[in-house]
Amino acid sequence: MKWSSPRGTTDIYGEDIDYRNYIINTARKIFEVFNYSEIITPTFEYTQVFSRGIGESTDIVKKEMFTFPDKKGRSLTLRPEGTASITRAVIENKMYCGNMPLKLFYIGNMFRYERPQKGRMREFWQLGIEAIGTDNPFIDAEIIWILNLFFKKLGFKKLVFKVNSIGCSICRNKYLTDFKKYLKPEIKKLCNECQNRFKNNPLRIFDCKRNSCRSILTGMPEMSSYLCSECEKNFKEVLKCLKILKIKYRTDKNLVRGFDYYTRTIFEVISEDLQSAQNALGGGGRYDNLMNELGGPDIPATGFAVGIDRTMMLMKQLNLKFKKTGKKSRVYLIAMNRDYLIYSLNILKYLREMEVVCDINFEKRSLKKEIKWAKENNYDFIIIVGGDEIETGNLTIKDIKKFKQYKVDWINKKEKIMDIIGAKNYD
Ligand code: AMP
Repeated sequence: MKWSSPRGTTDIYGEDIDYRNYIINTARKIFEVFNYSEIITPTFEYTQVFSRGIGESTDIVKKEMFTFPDKKGRSLTLRPEGTASITRAVIENKMYCGNMPLKLFYIGNMFRYERPQKGRMREFWQLGIEAIGTDNPFIDAEIIWILNLFFKKLGFKKLVFKVNSIGCSICRNKYLTDFKKYLKPEIKKLCNECQNRFKNNPLRIFDCKRNSCRSILTGMPEMSSYLCSECEKNFKEVLKCLKILKIKYRTDKNLVRGFDYYTRTIFEVISEDLQSAQNALGGGGRYDNLMNELGGPDIPATGFAVGIDRTMMLMKQLNLKFKKTGKKSRVYLIAMNRDYLIYSLNILKYLREMEVVCDINFEKRSLKKEIKWAKENNYDFIIIVGGDEIETGNLTIKDIKKFKQYKVDWINKKEKIMDIIGAKNYD
């Protein structure tokens, strides 16, 4: 029987690991500059953390969660996103008692039972931040600023932020009344699912992808004209900060997001370099009621999440290159005979103690094959250990990128070897 990984999951290796590490390291550096510290939460939570947090009537909770009972019959769910878990952690560990805002970042795998397609997986990776404890519009702008900086550093050029304000619960309730009034005569034209949404959580009708439902929504009242004066002022200030920071944004009145917890400013970042359906790189927004909803104090918060796999996919499609930082020379030792392995062991021991990236051949193959293998595996140097080398104590070092060859006294001139392979600059 041949096994494959479960549908919607993938193995990450080789070049993809380099991309991933580059993306994550770039994010880590920026998060540090903006004073965010890391949090790691469990991969699964009690189901209610998500059903209450994200909203019972959202697509994620209704259709996409990997939920299972533990051995005692408690319902657990693999996290579909990071915010609800982090909010639970902040409440449980009373992290809100210290200095505010609490600035946290996370990197983790998420699970959603979606129909897999390019850029849409059932297990995928996200990195994100949460800024908890202030409703100052400056912080909304700050997180968009971070996102902008992050994608610019990765080489993305045509970035656009779609921003909208969906108001607080007060303005949203007023809007809902009119929204329902508007939709009531059209209800039979909505798909079955939207008819249910109309009863349980009408705003989720915005999630529907069907053209028939979307066209009904085109003439509906706009949320922006229902914002209370506080929400309106708040949104204007966010936009003012974005202008000062010279971040390209577009207000999008139809922008909604798939989680119920959002309030006020929400946003999505897309790459216009590609006309792909999966060009949404990340998104987020304010969630001022979530802390309270999950049993904590009334503390406002905002955050974003970025898809790491999606970012990697678009970087490759756009041919965005990166330099591996702190790249060390790679050295491959070739013992020409199994008996020479013991002699080579001392060389290998020395190189590894000096933190040189190196390996050795474990099986005897022809020198030609070994050199070919070393080239294919991106080695920079090979060191040959044959009968001559052992007798004279002189190692043969080949620079296989620059086609140079050296003979060096291994016993007395170890530093020279380090010089040749460029290892003296290692920190
Ligand atoms: P969300 O948590 O839905 O706001 O998504 C934030 C970002 O995560 C999206 O913009 C995507 O880049 C990424 N993402 C969301 N769902 C998936 C998925 N199923 N597969 C891959 N990436 C995803």
